[in-house]
Amino acid sequence: MQQQLIDRDLAVNWHPYSQMKTSYHLPIARGDGANLYDYQENRYLDMVSSWWVTIHGHANSYIASKVYEQLSTLEQVIFAGFTHLPAITLSERLFQLLPLNQKKAFFTDNGSTAVEVALKMCIQFAYNNGVQKTKIIAFKNGYHGDTFGAMSVSERGQWTAPFADLLFEVIFIDAPTAENLESIKKIVQDHAEQTACFIYEPLVQGAGGMLMHRAEDLSELMSFCKSKGILLIQDEIFVGFGRTGTLFAADQLEEKPDVMCFSKGLTGGTMPLGITTCTEEIYQAFYSDEKRKALFHGHSFTASPIACAASLASLDLLLQDDCRSNIERICKSHAAFAKRLKKSVKVRNVRQTGTILAFDWVTENETSYFNQIQEKLFKVFIKKGIILRPMGNVLYLLPPYCIQQEDLDYTYETILEVLNNNNI
Ligand SMILES: *Cc1c(COP(=O)(O)O)cnc(C)c1O
Repeated sequence: MQQQLIDRDLAVNWHPYSQMKTSYHLPIARGDGANLYDYQENRYLDMVSSWWVTIHGHANSYIASKVYEQLSTLEQVIFAGFTHLPAITLSERLFQLLPLNQKKAFFTDNGSTAVEVALKMCIQFAYNNGVQKTKIIAFKNGYHGDTFGAMSVSERGQWTAPFADLLFEVIFIDAPTAENLESIKKIVQDHAEQTACFIYEPLVQGAGGMLMHRAEDLSELMSFCKSKGILLIQDEIFVGFGRTGTLFAADQLEEKPDVMCFSKGLTGGTMPLGITTCTEEIYQAFYSDEKRKALFHGHSFTASPIACAASLASLDLLLQDDCRSNIERICKSHAAFAKRLKKSVKVRNVRQTGTILAFDWVTENETSYFNQIQEKLFKVFIKKGIILRPMGNVLYLLPPYCIQQEDLDYTYETILEVLNNNNI
């Protein structure tokens, strides 16, 4: 990219949502910890962890050194008929941290493909067992990626409209609450016999607007599905690796999933990698002398040794006391800030799960203002050197775990200041 010199005032003219005629992209020169810098060395606090992936901050030197080591040892090898130590070690280390029923790992190279594999696994599990089960249950307001299978099981909207006729049918249910659980179970029951799997984002539905549900309600729904022979696909692509305060959302759930999906924070957010894990029972349905029983799915960069090395380095950091106490610090700071936020009349539905804090920004003329507010808020905060990227009128904070307390406090104070500004 050509170097462009710009100052932060110009940023107010940038459109945060790309690919539109009016859009302009802010060129970023470098990153360091929770900070991003443009070519004039203006600093921007990355309060969205660069699309929710950057858990240890930018340009982490430890991960960089491990990646360099791997790059100069083995950068790539075909992952069909061959394997390598970084992939083996990564699987072994993951299985020490995941629910004990997770036994096998299938590698891809991003979140959407990890979901595709999970869906194919569950559909073909039934097929290989000679059972006719092709229905899938998913949450309303869910998001599981942008490939066709992933789009099909996600909330439909303007972004999927051109493909509506090509997406397969899915049974959409509400996220569980104490009140609606029984009615959800009825829907599940009605479709149980033909349903292969239920796919869900546990605890937090990210792209749907940081919607949160209670662990006990989800656990109960999971148990019910399981009792009906429906496989559970737990999409931890967003919430995995510490986001919800525990290493995995699974750590807060009573029931264990059959299949799990990981990406985003897996490599510390340094490069693309996807992993789909499953139980021994599922694996055994594919493990055969008959070729037709195999799960045919591969990508050029499946299990990239470099991405595996980055993931191993990221895990080293994640498991250090330092990182754990940072996560705890963010959780506590968010909780204290949430109390202050609730006092504002411009704020509704303040909600927190671990390091994720979200709320709805209330405006007087809500419907007509709805679409402008995200752009307006984005620009106000970028001018203050903070990257916040509202979804509609939902503002959320999810910083890299290494964020300095003073930067977190600066963000909180700035939000309160903007809330108190009657012109916004
Ligand atoms: C981001 C995301 C995906 C898709 O991952 P990509 O790597 O962007 O394809 C899937 N599921 C959830 C819950 C996500 O947040």
